This record gives sequence, structure tokens and C-alpha cells, in this order.
Amino acid sequence: MSEKRDYYEILGVSREANDQEIKKAFRRVARELHPDVNDHDPQAEEKFKEAAEAYEVLSDEDRRRTYDQYGHDGLRSGGYQSQAQGFGSIDDLFSAFFGGGFGGSRGPAPGADIGVQTEIELEDVLEGTEREIEFDAVSNCDRCRGNGAEPGTPIRTCDRCGGSGELRTVANTAFGQMVRSTPCDQCHGDGRIPEQPCAECSGLGRRHKTKKHRIDIPAGIESGQRIRIAGAGHAGETGAPPGDLYVEVAVADREGMVRDGQDLITVVPVDATAAMIGDRIGVETLDGEDEIELQPGTQPGAETRLKGKGLPRLGSSRRRGDHRFIFNVIVPSNLSEEQLRLAGELDGSLTEENRAPKESGIFSRMRRAFG
Ligand SMILES: [Zn+2]
Ligand SMILES: [Zn+2]
Repeated sequence: MSEKRDYYEILGVSREANDQEIKKAFRRVARELHPDVNDHDPQAEEKFKEAAEAYEVLSDEDRRRTYDQYGHDGLRSGGYQSQAQGFGSIDDLFSAFFGGGFGGSRGPAPGADIGVQTEIELEDVLEGTEREIEFDAVSNCDRCRGNGAEPGTPIRTCDRCGGSGELRTVANTAFGQMVRSTPCDQCHGDGRIPEQPCAECSGLGRRHKTKKHRIDIPAGIESGQRIRIAGAGHAGETGAPPGDLYVEVAVADREGMVRDGQDLITVVPVDATAAMIGDRIGVETLDGEDEIELQPGTQPGAETRLKGKGLPRLGSSRRRGDHRFIFNVIVPSNLSEEQLRLAGELDGSLTEENRAPKESGIFSRMRRAFG
């Protein structure tokens, strides 16, 4: 058995705390551990049981005196066993201690959300596009319209729970009588039972169906962005709203083009000699073939751009970013003797003026261009 913590420490009160203070401390700790507040703490249930046990003991005059004098061993040898350990789930615990008025509302559950993915091409980002999404969803049964009864047959009120859908049991605990409620095992919380279950859905009222939905994908969308279709998710229990459909859009990579927000970047390899004397270079854009100017004396990492050939902002296909081209200057190798002689002549003719760097910050630009 693991070492038990001090009850006063668990509730965060002093050893002199009065009944009122202990009660307040327990409510505070319990609120912090409630699943609505704290749904990611896997230990919340154990911590709540621990706090409930501390409260059971410290709020009872006799038990508290025993604990103060003899500690946990004193209570154990006196035959004390915590009631808090007997509950199944944390929801049961909360409704037992706080009568259900703690934010845990019952009633028909809304449908769950559905997430699907779809892929589009980079070109589709220009104007936006449409996709037909196919997905599996819990839907209301067409035959019985979701009520679970064979059409034309009666539905009667559950006699086990009287139509409330809940069963209430009264438990005697340290704080007096407490009411626990659990879903009715005969009608599964519906309160109503079809006399003759629907042949299509066996009385469940819901079935799995493959659904299709046409969605508009807006211009300018980026990979990983989600489109929400309200109400297109799983059907809820009778009387509760359906969940939503979320479509996550992936934009396919396109060879030779890197997206940078609304801009596109392409790295263009050029020979060092062409970079010296200048050239016109054919390039590919999302709008087709185009040409860019390689200025004489272009340095490695220098950049030029075609304005308005990038991507639009989300939801507007009018104003587009730029397509930027970064020159990667390649030095020719394996030169023949004749080429070496020509290069040597050129080298010998260079003056200080030829060597002066015209651009600054090219290294950081290169780094950006190559990721
Ligand atoms: Zn049905
Ligand atoms: Zn029932």
C-alpha cells in the first residue's frame, strides 16, 4: 500500500481549521479537479478520491480526533474505510458529492465532430476550388426517422425509470444521504422504448452511413488550414444537435517552387560566366512560361522577382504576392586548356574595381533560399 498523504495538506488547510474552512477548501480542490476544468489530468480521479477521503475524515468530529491523535493507522485500526473509493467514475463521484449541480448536465448528447483531409494542387490556391468529400458519419435512421420504432408501431414510456431515463439510488455516506443517478439500463437513458424495434437500425435510431459533401476551398488557403461545415458531423442523440465537419486542406508540394506566405520562391542555377555578362532566362510560373533578366555582374544569392505572380491572400483572388527568383551562381569546372587560358587572361585583367562587392547580406539570403 502506498504512503498516504496528510489530510490537512491535501485540502491545504491548517490543523486548526474549523468546519466551514474545511468545507470551503474541499469545494475549491474539487472544482480544480472537475473534468470540465481539468480534462487532461489523468490523475484527477485519484486526486479527487483522496480529497474526498480527507474531507470525510476532517468533517467528522470523532474521526478527526482519532486522526489527530493516531494518524492514518489509528483510523485503519478503528475500522474506517473511505466511501469515496466505492464510486465507479469521476462523474458519479461529483454528482454524489455535489448533487449533479456542478456543471455536469445530463440530457441527450450532441453529435461528435468529424475530421477529414483533402489535397489540392498549388495552382488551385490561385482561384480556389471545389471538392467532394466522402466520409462516414453516424446519421439518423431513414426508416424510423431516428426514434427507433418500426414505422406505425407505438412507443411506450419506460416503466423502469418512469420516462426520466435515469435511475436514482440513495446512499448513506459521511455527509448524510446522497443521491446518485445513473442512466436507466432498460431504455439506455431515452425514457422511451419502442414496442417493436425498427428493422433497419435494430431500435438504435442511428446508423453509420457514407455521406458526401461538396465544399468550397477558398483562394489563398495554406496547408493545414481547416474548413468547418457546421452541422455536417455525427448525428446527436434524439433532440440534440449534430457535430461539425472539419476538412483539413493539404496543398501538394510542387517541384521547384517553395511557398513563403503569398510569395513563391524558385532557385535558378546560372553559370558564373553568364552571371558576369548577363542573360535572359526562361522560367516557369503558376501562369505558365515567363522570362527573367539576369543582370551583368549578378552575385550569388541575388534575387529578382515577377510581381503579382505569387499567391493571393486568403479569400481574395485579386491581389497576389510575387514570384521571387534567387540566383545560385555555379562556377564552371573541368575546363579545357583553351578555357583555362581564357579564364587566366580574364583573371589577369581584373582590377580592384571588378572585385568590389556590390551586394551585402547575400549569405543570409542564401540561407533563406535553401531552407
Ligand atoms: Zn431505424
Ligand atoms: Zn428507462
